[in-house]
Formats: sequence, C-alpha cells, structure tokens
Amino acid sequence: MISVSLISLLAYFLCVPLTAIMILWLYDDEKRYSKKAVPTQKTMCECDICLFHFTADKEEVFVRCPQCGNLMERKGAKH
Ligand SMILES: [Zn+2]
Repeated sequence: MISVSLISLLAYFLCVPLTAIMILWLYDDEKRYSKKAVPTQKTMCECDICLFHFTADKEEVFVRCPQCGNLMERKGAKH
C-alpha cells in the first residue's frame, strides 16, 4: 500500500483549490484595478464660494460650479 497519510492527503485536497481560488482572485483584482485607471480629460475642481468639488475638462480655463453657478478660473489652467 502507498504510504500517504490521511493528513497530507487532506492538506493536498485543501491547498490545491485554495491556491487556485487565490490566483483567480488576484487576477480578477488586477483586472478590476487596471480597468479603473482610465486616462481622462477631466480634472478635479473646487469652488471658491461653496467649496463644492466637481470635475471639469482640462481644456477649459473658466468653469462654472454646478452647485452655486459661480464662474471661476480653473486652478492650474494654462494661459
Ligand atoms: Zn460653488
């Protein structure tokens, strides 16, 4: 008879699926994160008046706050 103890057999049957699940999990996580990092033309802006945060196009020099309607110059805008 082959001398394989019950413990090592159990350990084998537990470790193989667990490793497979972990590899799939890590692969899925990486896929999700790479999907998140999408290059965008948008940038974050903060309103001077109501401190509301919103996104605006990088090309725009003047942006209007969607919360209070204040027209302001976008910070970091190229002149
Ligand atoms: Zn505002």
